[in-house]
Amino acid sequence: MRQASLTTPELLDRLEKFYGRQDPCWPEDPYEFVVWWHCGYPASDAACAKGWAKLNREVGIDPPDLLAASPQKLAAALKPGGMVPELRALRLKEIARRVKDELGGDLRTALSGSLSSARKTLKKFPSIADPGADRILLFAGIAPLAAVPSNCPHVLVRVLHGQERENYGVNYRDAQQAIAAEVPETVDIRKRAYLLLKRHGQEICKRTKPKCDKCPVSSHCAFFAGHRRGRSTPS
Ligand code: SF4
Repeated sequence: MRQASLTTPELLDRLEKFYGRQDPCWPEDPYEFVVWWHCGYPASDAACAKGWAKLNREVGIDPPDLLAASPQKLAAALKPGGMVPELRALRLKEIARRVKDELGGDLRTALSGSLSSARKTLKKFPSIADPGADRILLFAGIAPLAAVPSNCPHVLVRVLHGQERENYGVNYRDAQQAIAAEVPETVDIRKRAYLLLKRHGQEICKRTKPKCDKCPVSSHCAFFAGHRRGRSTPS
């Protein structure tokens, strides 16, 4: 039987007790993050870390380094990160060119205006949509946004409401609203929320086949209590 519902801060405390303190394994500087994000494909922490290490070692990551390297050399450095290294090499050149020619060589300073202008600037980079922009602005300490890990917005939705919706955007918005409503609006506290939800979504509350029998919050979870909101169990 489901015990009393948890507030989002209580849920986060339980996740931290279970997983321990979480730290980001990616660069928090906005420019470095955009480069890091293209170091792996499909983008994952492990894939991006591999490409990032070799790129730093063999080419460098500053705009002049990326612009001076041949596409072949860049692609070779990105290869450990996974698929389509040639395409990712071209994208890195495009990113470096924009930062150098259009943003004065300093992305962080270019993001210091209004939030809407910062989002617009970030979303002009390849592969950066709203969730990526929120993540960059939060982890760079530019704005205490209610960012949600892009690959697991379902975690909060399941615990609070039950089975997530089929529409990704609806789940993302529901999770964002839960954070905005209950998690104090400071950069450090919202980073902590992001990291704990990401860890839980990757390790136990997976999108398909969640490992509810191993979950530290199952006794408070609406999904585990059978709230399917009119949908069938995920396969
Ligand atoms: S009980 Fe299952 S659905 Fe609920 S949070 Fe845990 S793993 Fe996710």
